[in-house]
Amino acid sequence: MTADPAYIYKKKADHAPELLYPRGTVTNRTVTDAASMCGTPFYLYDGSLIADQCRSLLHMPRAHGLSVRYAIKANPSRAVLELIAAQGMQFEAGSMNEVKRAQLAGIHPGKILLTSQDVPDKQNLLLLKQLMHRGLNYTICSFLQLQRIAPYAGQNGIPLCIRIHPGQGSGASATRNTGDAYASFGVQQGELPLVLRFAREQGIEFSRLHVHIGSGSEPALWKENVLRTLHTVEEAFPHVTTINLGGGFKVARMPDEDGADINELGEFTAEKLRDFSRQTGRKLHLEIEPGTFVVANSGYLVTSVIDIKPNRDNEFMFYLLNGGMESNPRPLMYGARHPFYMVSKSGKLLWSDFKAGQPDCPGVIVGRCCETGDSQCLDPRGIVTPRPMARPGLGDMIVIGGTGAYCSSMAPFNYNSYLQAAERMLVPGQGLRLIREAQSLEQLVNNEKGLAGTGRQV
Ligand SMILES: *Cc1c(COP(=O)(O)O)cnc(C)c1O
Repeated sequence: MTADPAYIYKKKADHAPELLYPRGTVTNRTVTDAASMCGTPFYLYDGSLIADQCRSLLHMPRAHGLSVRYAIKANPSRAVLELIAAQGMQFEAGSMNEVKRAQLAGIHPGKILLTSQDVPDKQNLLLLKQLMHRGLNYTICSFLQLQRIAPYAGQNGIPLCIRIHPGQGSGASATRNTGDAYASFGVQQGELPLVLRFAREQGIEFSRLHVHIGSGSEPALWKENVLRTLHTVEEAFPHVTTINLGGGFKVARMPDEDGADINELGEFTAEKLRDFSRQTGRKLHLEIEPGTFVVANSGYLVTSVIDIKPNRDNEFMFYLLNGGMESNPRPLMYGARHPFYMVSKSGKLLWSDFKAGQPDCPGVIVGRCCETGDSQCLDPRGIVTPRPMARPGLGDMIVIGGTGAYCSSMAPFNYNSYLQAAERMLVPGQGLRLIREAQSLEQLVNNEKGLAGTGRQV
């Protein structure tokens, strides 16, 4: 896709660079430099902040060893996976295709744990066995999944991981709580005796127990999960040597939000694991698999103001952007709030949600899709709610922060036939790199077969 020339910006160096998000390396100048290459919209990732987040995870307190797996679904872009792998992280895949994408990024199957709701069909079962032969770690999440893989794992003495329903969950919204009575994830408690008996008969050992209570979980409930999991290990899993507590660390995107303190959670867990080893003689290895925590605040969606109009009652202005729900669906899906940064055409930082004392007026940021909900200013019920901001002009850029996780990977990007935006990364030591081209109209329609037969080229 060639960007509209109106939204390709000239490089200007006369405005002082200021950090957008208070951590990392992306400034208003990075944004203008990137926009001068191909125009807007595009995603921009701060590679140095991603690396920083990986380092803080890998340095978390631990008792008897720690593995950190990046949850690929948060952002599976190849360069993102490569960068994370280079920090020494391992990976959590939620589907066979995520395993394949990790392999395309040069990641060895031995570094991947596959934990999926999907049930391998004939072809995928063959592939699964081949990959397990090469070291892929596999989690069974249901009796049927166990039945499919049991003969192979049993005969070859390959230990499995088992995901169980934690009994209680916690998430930033009901849709991300994976442990309540309405969550289907993992082997349900009622089925556990049946599953364990079957596994014993097949000669299967569960060496790893997996519990993930949800995304954006409350730290206090995350801690309760540690205690519950250790209790379960003692009661029902004599061969377990590793517990995997999933991901879900709560992350603050807005200045008034609170995130989880991973060092405090790590310290708490380490202490409980030490107690457990004193009581049982079992030294359990700990695994965690954060996605959001690694990438959320390193992502920016860079858009341009394409239209401005007052609302019906003249209370506030609408700023229409060339990127909205099709690139960041989180406000619409979850009522999530994201920080805004406004950068003028000439590169000046006009507004930042992280700076106090700026001139501000109520405004609402909307996208181009035919939904009233295509707005970045929604409350948790999905109702459009004005927010304080500067008054940008046509062509000024609005940068939506906190868009590194579950945006590019989860957005309904072809709605209204808009095209998936390009991805760029500010790579430590390398500068700005294009890591994914924008989708073309040709790619959008490529698989369609018309009725008329002839068809025309786009
Ligand atoms: C989604 C998911 C994660 C990552 O969750 P975040 O909230 O992004 O940290 C980890 N483990 C499993 C099994 C998941 O489904």
